Amino acid sequence: MHNADKNRLNDEKKYVVIVDRLQKRGVTQLDIAEITLGLQTKYLPFLSIDVCLDHVKRVLMKREVQNAILTGLELDILAEQGKLSEPLSTIILSDYGLYGIDEILALSIVNVYGSIGSTNFGFVDKTKPGIIGRLDDKTDGKKTCNTFLDDIVGAIAAAAASSIAHKYADVDSKPETF
Ligand code: MG
Repeated sequence: MHNADKNRLNDEKKYVVIVDRLQKRGVTQLDIAEITLGLQTKYLPFLSIDVCLDHVKRVLMKREVQNAILTGLELDILAEQGKLSEPLSTIILSDYGLYGIDEILALSIVNVYGSIGSTNFGFVDKTKPGIIGRLDDKTDGKKTCNTFLDDIVGAIAAAAASSIAHKYADVDSKPETF
């Protein structure tokens, strides 16, 4: 039995669906892991991208994280397809700054990891590193709606960074590589 199956909070079948759906929206696990590495490397200078990828996967396995991702992506896609009614349609398509529900939904991802999760999320929300900046870029002329996706990606990266921080919090002498 795969190790992850033993955790009742995990859902391996939905994990496959989630990874596929994120990829179709232009986001890979590696894109997210790179943001995680950027967040943690100042505390853990020898942290590798593989460890970050592993923690991104752990986050994506969690059922409550998956539920938030499925909901947010669906709203972006329905908005794009013109299937939402007004006034919500315009609010989501224009990524209206005072809407705020995209951030609230994303917070449900980081809340699993306590206050470090929220701090990391706030940081990526402000700095928009890597793929988040590209998703947030509205100058590409495409009709893609990433109102929920950019926050979701930031939250997954922040959650993975927090998961790493918690894991190595008790290590007095950190290994040189891990
Ligand atoms: Mg947003």
